[in-house]
Amino acid sequence: MPFCPNCKSEYIEGITACSECHVPLVDELAVATREADVEEKFALLHTFPSIVYAEMIKEALEKRGIACLMKSDMLTSAYGSKGGGVFSKVRIYVPENRLKESDEIMNQMLDHI
Ligand SMILES: [Zn+2]
Repeated sequence: MPFCPNCKSEYIEGITACSECHVPLVDELAVATREADVEEKFALLHTFPSIVYAEMIKEALEKRGIACLMKSDMLTSAYGSKGGGVFSKVRIYVPENRLKESDEIMNQMLDHI
């Protein structure tokens, strides 16, 4: 039974997107767990040096119905005041059971950059 990862509405088979939220429906019940529980079921897909790549991959994964979490660390370089500035690394987490699939999608994407 597909359902919306956002509002948790259930839909009948064949429906692919939530009519309320306009997000792809998901099949796995694990994805619908509460925010606090979600993290334990997610696995780190990749750490990106830039949010540009991370957002591109996130979009590609979400198009395929894979919910992902994006986390970034703002890091201040030791040389910040001299021009190194602030940079961030962005990590993307995907559901553990879709890690392999996500990895393949990501590698395909990165091949085209
Ligand atoms: Zn919805």
